[in-house]
Amino acid sequence: MSNVIQSVRGFSDVLPEQTGVWRHVEGVLRGVLDRYGYSEIRLPVLEKTELFARSIGEVTDIVEKEMYSFDDRNGDSLSLRPEGTAGCVRACIEHGLLHNQQPRLWYQGAMFRHERPQKGRLRQFHQIGAEVFGLTGADIDAEIILMTRRMLHELGLQDVRLELNTLGTAEARANYREALVAYLSARRDQLDDDSQRRLEGNPLRILDSKNPETQRLLDGAPRLDDYIDANSREHFDDLRRLLDAADVEYTVNPRLVRGLDYYGRTVFEWITDRLGAQGTVCAGGRYDALVEQIGGKATPAIGFALGLERLVALVEEAADAPPALAPDVYMVVMGEAQRSAALVLAERLRAALPGVGVFMHCGGGSFKSQFRRADRSGAQLALVLGETELASDTIGLKPLRSGSEQVNIAQGDLVKTLKEHFGG
Ligand code: ATP
Ligand code: MG
Repeated sequence: MSNVIQSVRGFSDVLPEQTGVWRHVEGVLRGVLDRYGYSEIRLPVLEKTELFARSIGEVTDIVEKEMYSFDDRNGDSLSLRPEGTAGCVRACIEHGLLHNQQPRLWYQGAMFRHERPQKGRLRQFHQIGAEVFGLTGADIDAEIILMTRRMLHELGLQDVRLELNTLGTAEARANYREALVAYLSARRDQLDDDSQRRLEGNPLRILDSKNPETQRLLDGAPRLDDYIDANSREHFDDLRRLLDAADVEYTVNPRLVRGLDYYGRTVFEWITDRLGAQGTVCAGGRYDALVEQIGGKATPAIGFALGLERLVALVEEAADAPPALAPDVYMVVMGEAQRSAALVLAERLRAALPGVGVFMHCGGGSFKSQFRRADRSGAQLALVLGETELASDTIGLKPLRSGSEQVNIAQGDLVKTLKEHFGG
């Protein structure tokens, strides 16, 4: 078996036994987005590399070392998208969606980052995200947070906490950056390699270092808090009042910075302790400068993305995880001659009972082996069509999840009986 081709490291399959939970999670999130009046936008997975360099930032981890970039056959540098915001902004500008409009959009799909694969961290992962354009007030920030709270709540996830911060204006961050770099440069030898590297390119990112020594060192560092401009402060206070009024619990984490350059003012994360170090299930914030940076007319914006793998992992471990999808009815067919009648009957059932899943046994086999498969399929009922049944216009009906005996009924009564059994 040495020449079996395996999947690419960090690119995982979602197997049939897992897709039930995936569809449940996606369905709940889509339902919430619909109810808040957000419109779906579908975006390509491939964009020009420059789009990400210009938006996420040249010296971020993502752009520096995590993108799947390559020259296509025309020699253009393209990248698999590492996140969804940049492409969404690009599309909005390109299609004029921001002219006199304040779109509230959502998207879903695969993202790609060449990171070290581990629990909760893949190279192809999936997000559902939303972006809102054209609104400056804290009311939309609050709505975004309320919507993500509802999503987590409707997924039955309790142990997820909200952290908030404000990053202020670009100017405030630049001033703070200078002070932070001065402080940390004087203590450079106490920083790990990662933080030393970030000191030049992306010093703010040191604030969310997982290294306890670095965190201790930061206790004495200048605080971003003290550099926030008055307008951003007012915006943040307004947001906090709105969240308080809606009974949203949160902690302000003055070291929450996010790893993408485009964020300013509000940033937030929903975090769980149940997934080890990869505990952020949702992250977002304001990016009022990005639209202009990508070439559009200055337009305020805010958005977030949820990591689906992490949500699925949380839902899977919850006690009442949704079961794998199963058919309702398994059609057992005895004898070659009955195949055609069984196929026709199954079609009739599907037409009459669109809510009932009918799985057709194909390929023959003994009664015993067909029933074993019926049992394993998870179906509630087996229908049995053999020579006797066909000859007498009847069908066998055997409950699979109780010890009840098989009964034979007239084929003409089948739709009615199944309706009673499955409701509707
Ligand atoms: P993290 O701090 O976990 O690296 P991030 O700041 O890189 O997250 P974002 O770019 O904001 O994350 O993406 C939003 C969400 O997407 C994350 O909170 C997480 O749930 C998910 N996510 C990000 N990177 C990965 C990955 N490599 N594998 C799986 N999920 C991911
Ligand atoms: Mg990351």
